[in-house]
Amino acid sequence: MTTISANLQAVLARILAAARKYGRNPDDISLLAVSKTWPAADVREAVAAGQKSFGENYVQEGIAKIAELGALGLEWHFIGPLQSNKTRQVAEVFDWVHSVDRLKIAERLSAQRPDALEPLQICLQVNVSGETSKSGVLLDEVKLLARQVATLPRLKLRGLMAIPAPIEEFVLQRKAFRRLRAIFEQLKSDGLLLDTLSMGMSHDLEAAIAEGSSMVRVGTAIFGVRNKS
Ligand SMILES: *Cc1c(COP(=O)(O)O)cnc(C)c1O
Repeated sequence: MTTISANLQAVLARILAAARKYGRNPDDISLLAVSKTWPAADVREAVAAGQKSFGENYVQEGIAKIAELGALGLEWHFIGPLQSNKTRQVAEVFDWVHSVDRLKIAERLSAQRPDALEPLQICLQVNVSGETSKSGVLLDEVKLLARQVATLPRLKLRGLMAIPAPIEEFVLQRKAFRRLRAIFEQLKSDGLLLDTLSMGMSHDLEAAIAEGSSMVRVGTAIFGVRNKS
């Protein structure tokens, strides 16, 4: 077994254990493997171990990997900050975008999504940590943005994503995720058909699962510690 496949099994075991502990159905929690900064060869190892969905943060890097691995039938999620001059490239090759936090970006993605492809699957990135985080729509603006994005023809709004400020204490990790879940439930009771709560990373996936995560985005625990430079 390679390191990546062993790591992947360990992460799946963590997801399963957390699901059991917090009374969740493990089938309701999917794993997005965050392959940013790692080469296509590492993605291939994860694929060989059964992983099919991958997350990328940087447009050029993601596009190159998707081109190289296109034949494998993988699902690609763009999860990084997105500037308007890069929306076309993302709309043309990715399956999902988790980091939409402005209407302008959503409108461009919808207009630029090729007709031949399925609608682009969208999560709105929400700022659940206040001033400590720069990206993400503010909590009191989520409802309006969600209503607007839900009307765009070539997008399918699936849910919400958050990257809380990094904290150690489990109770505080849960608290941040609970804020995201609360707004998710509100949007659903307002009539939006949402099914995706994208929350939880290597260091806090248990807290996210405890609070209802349906998709954890895990990089370090699968591929190793990224080079900071
Ligand atoms: C890098 C990244 C992850 C993965 O983080 P790890 O701590 O390496 O698991 C998840 N989500 C987003 C948006 C990221 O940028």
